[in-house]
Amino acid sequence: MGLTATASMIRPVEASRKLQKRAELMIPGGVNSPVRAFGSVGGDPLFIVRGQGSHLWDVDENKYIDYVGSWGPLILGHAPPGVPEAVATAAKDGTSFGASTAAEADLAEIVISAFPQVEKIRFVNSGTEATMSAIRLARAYTGRKYIVKFEGCYHGHADALLVKAGSGVATLGIPGSAGVPEEFTQLTLALPFNDTDALELAFKKFSNQIACVMVEPVVGNMGCVPPLPLYLDALREITIRDGSLLIFDEVMTGFRLAFGGAQERYGVLPDLTTFGKIIGGGLPVGAYGGPSEIMNMVAPLGPVYQAGTLSGNPLAMAAGIATLRYLRSHKSTVYTGLEIRSAQLTEGVIAASAEAGVPMCCNRIGSMFTWFFTPGPVTDWTSAAKCDTQAFARFFRAMLDRGVYLPPSQFEAAFLSAAHTENDVHQTIAAAKQAFATMRVGSSS
Ligand SMILES: *Cc1c(COP(=O)(O)O)cnc(C)c1O
Repeated sequence: MGLTATASMIRPVEASRKLQKRAELMIPGGVNSPVRAFGSVGGDPLFIVRGQGSHLWDVDENKYIDYVGSWGPLILGHAPPGVPEAVATAAKDGTSFGASTAAEADLAEIVISAFPQVEKIRFVNSGTEATMSAIRLARAYTGRKYIVKFEGCYHGHADALLVKAGSGVATLGIPGSAGVPEEFTQLTLALPFNDTDALELAFKKFSNQIACVMVEPVVGNMGCVPPLPLYLDALREITIRDGSLLIFDEVMTGFRLAFGGAQERYGVLPDLTTFGKIIGGGLPVGAYGGPSEIMNMVAPLGPVYQAGTLSGNPLAMAAGIATLRYLRSHKSTVYTGLEIRSAQLTEGVIAASAEAGVPMCCNRIGSMFTWFFTPGPVTDWTSAAKCDTQAFARFFRAMLDRGVYLPPSQFEAAFLSAAHTENDVHQTIAAAKQAFATMRVGSSS
């Protein structure tokens, strides 16, 4: 409480607060996605007026170094050269036709070139639609009913997948969602992540009945939790053995951890892959893809129905193409730079926490990371849930007051973009040192 009062004195929030009050009258919680309301961290949700490169500006004219990156899409930073121009150019010719444009195959070609297992792809409007459709397809292809997901993984908000989910569901500390009848989730088996024995057991019990195993190959939605060595290989082996499909939900990791996503980085190929975030370059896009043999089951070629009024939208395709083309032509420098700078940042903050005596650990793969307020290690939902979320909340607010915008939840991954500079990293580490100092004062009072 004391900290919140101090916060508003050193950083103006009046304009954001006013807009939040107005929004709350008309929009549940004033937000269109729950974690934006700052419920678990306290303080006033930000109203943004502008983003440029690694920085954001809010309506109170506060400037922040941004590590949310719109929750993952903005690997090149805000309004990177070429992307807004591509969207504007497309918009001049009309915003949507409900008929095909050449841009759809252009974007398809780039994604297919980066993911060898993807021969055909279908574009949708969000990650939620992508995972939901991939599961429908897996069930149709295998003629089986059960699906496996993992505790703390988030695959969007479709009914069957809101079981022990991460992201906002974990942030709010709720087991699933009201409004999802028990019967709708009876075919969803939720298992602990990074636990091969639990998966073996499930396949023993439900032999020849599991349509697919869906996983975030590197989990981002309980905070960043990488797979243990050979865990993804085990998922591949077990699913092949049982004739079940392996679906990598690369909505967050696709084009983030490498140009070819987590599957390139770990050398394990799934049957189907779901995409979102980066492939839309900041506009609403999702996609699912895989071998032609499976994808040809989707309508109009096959019996699996899936459609979308705005799917393949020309503005969204333009943003995606501009982003992926840039990434492709600067592949080595972008991903190497992200790796080096992210390591520098996370190690610097962890060193500062050790110096301040704050028990913390960090998980990082490439430019995706989480500072967990627990000694760790964090390898699954059980260990993630041990975090001191109050300490995280104090850290979050202290950082915000010092011009650093982190994801407003302990159970979300933070992202670095190619626009983040060495100076941003130094400033962030300096802010963290100060933040840890205020936390020590706060906790002793
Ligand atoms: C963000 C995310 C989703 C959901 O995507 P939306 O576009 O928010 O519907 C699904 N899966 C993963 C792994 C995600 O990170």
